[in-house]
Amino acid sequence: MDFKIVDASAFYAGIPFGTLDACHTTTLVYDEIKHIKQNQDALGTLLETGRLQIRDPEKNTLDFILKKAKETGDLQQLSKQDISVLALCYELKGELITDDYAISNVSENLGVKVSPIMTSGIKDVGKWIHYCSGCEKSFQKGVECPQCGNPLKRKLIKGKPPSIPVNE
Ligand SMILES: [Zn+2]
Repeated sequence: MDFKIVDASAFYAGIPFGTLDACHTTTLVYDEIKHIKQNQDALGTLLETGRLQIRDPEKNTLDFILKKAKETGDLQQLSKQDISVLALCYELKGELITDDYAISNVSENLGVKVSPIMTSGIKDVGKWIHYCSGCEKSFQKGVECPQCGNPLKRKLIKGKPPSIPVNE
């Protein structure tokens, strides 16, 4: 069985709550997301039933990930939390579920398997769109508006595909 490792973006999208598979995360990520009030009961249940397991990577693995991220120039984009889940995933040879661009970008260099939230096999979590606050258009992906050059913001649309038109 593949270990599933979840980062904060996966928590915000509700992944650990929507799957029966056990998810793993690190103390740093857990500390980041445990304040989400609406999830507190659900988090307690996940921990009690063993569907959420908190586990931290060895220092050696962390050092390895840090070194690699430095080499590839990705270190600046990664938070401590990102590094910790990447290291845990590397150590467990699992699958990291995330929607974080920086993490996805480095995962290949690190040999860590990353699954975007939308293709993780867990349905009904919603859909990420990228929208421009300048011209109020939405796009499926991208970091910059192709029309006006403003940075795109990300928004999770829960449930069914958005009723607003999404431009390619
Ligand atoms: Zn725009």
